Amino acid sequence: MNEQLLSLTHTGEEPEKYLHSVTPPVFLNSLHVYDRFEDYASIDPLREGEYIYGRASNPTVHILERKIAELEHGSRAAVFSSGMAACTSAIMAVCKAGSHVICMRDVYQPVTRFLENFCIPKLNMAVTYVSGNDLGEVEDAMKKGASLMILESPATFVFCVVDLKAIADLAHKYGVRTYIDNTCMTPIFQNPLDLGIDIVMHTMSKYIGGHSDLIGGVLVSKDDELMKQIIQEMREWYGGILGPMEGWLAIRGLRTLHARLMQHQSTAMEVAEFLEKNDKVRKIYYTGLKSNPQREIIEKQQRGHTSLMSFVLDASVEQSINFINNLKFFGKGCSWGGFESLALMPLYKSSQEELDFRNVDRQLIRIYCGLEGAENLLEDLEQAFNRL
Ligand SMILES: *Cc1c(COP(=O)(O)O)cnc(C)c1O
Repeated sequence: MNEQLLSLTHTGEEPEKYLHSVTPPVFLNSLHVYDRFEDYASIDPLREGEYIYGRASNPTVHILERKIAELEHGSRAAVFSSGMAACTSAIMAVCKAGSHVICMRDVYQPVTRFLENFCIPKLNMAVTYVSGNDLGEVEDAMKKGASLMILESPATFVFCVVDLKAIADLAHKYGVRTYIDNTCMTPIFQNPLDLGIDIVMHTMSKYIGGHSDLIGGVLVSKDDELMKQIIQEMREWYGGILGPMEGWLAIRGLRTLHARLMQHQSTAMEVAEFLEKNDKVRKIYYTGLKSNPQREIIEKQQRGHTSLMSFVLDASVEQSINFINNLKFFGKGCSWGGFESLALMPLYKSSQEELDFRNVDRQLIRIYCGLEGAENLLEDLEQAFNRL
């Protein structure tokens, strides 16, 4: 039985509750009213399926949470108004003033900005950055005592991966909680909770939404007490729950997630192989390539590959800008995960210090392969190379 496909399509929907409607309604209500006060007073919004007020929970949103909890093999999921709301909630739930956090150097940039400009100055927290690939370095950092380790694998920009099971084992030994941004894998290709990671985050603004029409995030864990704490302290008190309309759109996105990913992956594989063969490409970073130096770890923990990749041309920064401007089907924009292909130079405006910190080139080009099909994207890339 393929449980994933059933979670995507059917889990949590209960059409018999909603006049047998094949899709669930969008519950656009802020509260739930009861005839008897005692019925109202007996509701505990921390219990699943009990509703009192929309900042605590909502029936449409809860269908989405049941699906994602099941897909990630967690006990419970909590959705937020954005990926960053989910990420910062996880950090704040686990840490307190003075906490020590270990963070992979390659994580999504706003996460390091949050640590550097909020957690350190306002909460006296300390952060140790590690590559994540050197387990000795990770262990040394954990030995000092840490509340949380922040992971992303494959990570933004050059898609390096880290051995999640090995890091989770070390974290258990030293009593460090672990958090991973699993957005570019989705639950379809990687399940970090099964490898011992404590908290998984997805931004639903990317593949899960899948149509470039919503902003949302989600946290999942096997630890029920932690999830209750997150739902109460981080979501109810900070107030960042996902709206019901966005919840409905994410449910719709999930129905086709598997089918879309198969298409994204096969297109990306053709594009990466095309780029790798091109002698104007100096470096290429894609987890799906046979030549990837981290292939062993990748095959151990991933079931598939994202349609994001990066490369560096044998060309100047200006020539690289011209190259992406010459691409017709790749829109110049941030984000990704929708139907439309994208190209940009994500580090174009970075300081030299940041480039050194991340060990990447300014003219690194990141492309996202959408759903236009390999034939169209390859033709487009070919003509841009001819004009280089
Ligand atoms: C976009 C993105 C985020 C942030 O998600 P938002 O919904 O925009 O807050 C976090 N991590 C990764 C890997 C992303 O690509």
